[in-house]
Amino acid sequence: MKIGCPREVKPQEFRVGMTPDAAREAVAHGHRVMIETGAGLGAGFADADYAAAGAEVVATAEEVFAEAEMIVKVKEPQAAERKRLRAGQLLFTYLHLAPDPEQTRDLLASGATCIAYETVTDARGGLPLLAPMSEVAGRLAPQVGAWTLQKANGGRGVLLGGVPGVAPANVVIVGGGVVGTAAARVAVGMGARVTVLDRSVPRLSYLDDIFHGKLVTQYSSAGALAELVRTADMVIGAVLIPGAAAPKLVSRAQLKEMKPGAVLVDVAIDQGGCFETSRATTHQDPIYEVDGVMHYCVANMPGAVARTSTQALGNATLPFLLALADKGWKKACADDPHLLAGLNVHAGKLTYAAVGTALGLPS
Ligand code: NAD
Repeated sequence: MKIGCPREVKPQEFRVGMTPDAAREAVAHGHRVMIETGAGLGAGFADADYAAAGAEVVATAEEVFAEAEMIVKVKEPQAAERKRLRAGQLLFTYLHLAPDPEQTRDLLASGATCIAYETVTDARGGLPLLAPMSEVAGRLAPQVGAWTLQKANGGRGVLLGGVPGVAPANVVIVGGGVVGTAAARVAVGMGARVTVLDRSVPRLSYLDDIFHGKLVTQYSSAGALAELVRTADMVIGAVLIPGAAAPKLVSRAQLKEMKPGAVLVDVAIDQGGCFETSRATTHQDPIYEVDGVMHYCVANMPGAVARTSTQALGNATLPFLLALADKGWKKACADDPHLLAGLNVHAGKLTYAAVGTALGLPS
């Protein structure tokens, strides 16, 4: 199969759909890989790395879209890219169609077959192509929070791990899923005093087991959270209610009771945020202050570490990419119901019920 990987054109997106390693594997499977020149630069991969892996480096996105049977990307196709898609072509990337009627309309009009990373499932009920980005965002959260806690950045001037004779910071993590667990791992590693809240008792048991007393678990009642927020140096928002906007768990009124210079890191901002005062920020201007409390609310945190994120995403997508290329999408999806769960659009029809419901379209 001819596989094409264009340069990402969404502003501030530095990841790339295929690493040179992925290209090498696809070539070893007998496929032809075309990569747009410069596509890997933001993630630290030069054209020469792709060429050495056996890929063809081509000058323009037009050529990639015109020739490839399967397009592999990271972000949803932008308007100019959508115009280049054609009937019978396969698109494999993040789509997030439910809140995006314009993109949905264009993909339906293109006649292409579109498989969305975010709805591919696994045998444990997880989302294997979303989880690596949650891992990255979770591990970044204490790191960016620690930076924000520094005095020059508006924080209270507290070192996460303390020093001998001086207590460490109190870090409260709301939501103990993929993001929360990854955040806990790093915060514990940095020496902070960590409490994780969740509404799932089995999840709290799991955390209690794997952390061997290095953190405290707490059922996420409104009262327990309010009490912990009051004494926190850093609160990390990591909740998810699948298919719904994030619940607002810390109100503006509560900020006044927090320590001045405390930090809120709202990882759930991509679902609207779980603090009342959260609004999405960018890597250029990531933090702001409300009532003396610093907020970090970057909606695409993994972009800060584009190389790690590209490699992590590439590891997760590669087996699916190879199955699609080796067997063609029909057979690959027939053989694997988890890949089939990723099918959102085919030949002008919506094939994912939740997207249809969200947009009021037949599916
Ligand atoms: P997950 O499903 O693995 O975990 C979410 C957890 O939240 C679950 O354990 C659930 O029981 C818990 N929860 C639900 N309601 C709660 C409540 N009221 N109190 C406490 N816990 C509650 O999801 P995840 O992969 O960890 O993702 C968490 C959030 O981070 C999502 O909104 C996701 O979209 C977001 N995210 C953001 C970025 C970014 O760059 N900002 C990157 C990756 C993920």
